[in-house]
Amino acid sequence: MVGEANRAGQLGCWHRLAYSDHMELEFIDWLSGRLSQHPSQRRGELRLGIGDDAALLRVEPDEEFVVTTDMLMDGSHFELSRHSLAQIGRKSLAVNLSDMAAMAAEPLAAFVSLALPKSHAAEQARALIDGMLPLAEQFSVALAGGDTNCWSGPLVISVMVVGKCAAGRALRRSGALPGDRMLVTGALGGSLLDHHLSFTPRVREAKLLSARYALHAGCDLSDGLSLDVARVAAASGCGAVLRAARIPISQAARRSAAGDNQRALQHALHDGEDFELLLAVPPDAAERLLSEQPCPVPCTWIGEFVSESGIWLEDPSGHRQPLEPRGYQHGVS
Ligand SMILES: [Mg+2]
Repeated sequence: MVGEANRAGQLGCWHRLAYSDHMELEFIDWLSGRLSQHPSQRRGELRLGIGDDAALLRVEPDEEFVVTTDMLMDGSHFELSRHSLAQIGRKSLAVNLSDMAAMAAEPLAAFVSLALPKSHAAEQARALIDGMLPLAEQFSVALAGGDTNCWSGPLVISVMVVGKCAAGRALRRSGALPGDRMLVTGALGGSLLDHHLSFTPRVREAKLLSARYALHAGCDLSDGLSLDVARVAAASGCGAVLRAARIPISQAARRSAAGDNQRALQHALHDGEDFELLLAVPPDAAERLLSEQPCPVPCTWIGEFVSESGIWLEDPSGHRQPLEPRGYQHGVS
């Protein structure tokens, strides 16, 4: 067992709970080889990755860690029979990177825990990692640890991402003020057609916008515009008015609605999994941002935060009606 223990020590935070589990040993050997030359591992903040009992990260004294985690389950967040393991692996990292964008944070390292069905566990683990690595490279996120177990249940993937931001500069949900303009990146709705698997987390956009403009609050649109607006408004102790005619409706939402404009708007308001940014921006900064359009993806003014609590939808004639927040129910997509 000495050899085994040494080996487990070398493998570090991707450690083996069951010493009889050859699958994990093989997998970690494969992973170590796969990562040894991978560009994502070159981050200066990563002092120690896979290879010890835990990873080490270093940030500057005037920086803060930003930490998020998300769990995806077969049959609930994806369906193995319909989605490829590469797509599922990519998405499980991408949703965490979107939460980093929501906080205007820079992602540093990802930690991946897998509960694998016993049949084909090793192949599945490798395919999931292969799905993640291109995205990890794109955003310079180091795969720095994790854990792997086999069981008789369905595939479950839990990814944690650690990021950083300048101390006190994380973008929170709670800072919106009455009078702030409500802005979104990109176009909304119809994500289930494809976008929920292929979206680009708005990490770069969030970093750029937060560096250049005085953003008051923000989040990523994961569960549906109406629900996410309600959350930001509630956290900020205010309400919000959405202007129906201003909401950017995606081509996918229009396709889902088969040409019915009202239905397309409903898709944009409630579908979820858009993974765009929702921002509360003071009027002068919003005006500057909208005229400069500094991101590759357009930013659109879709409404205002107001002092009365509640969420309203305003039609082009100025008539307001209460908008019921309806979000994405995590079902099989
Ligand atoms: Mg989020």
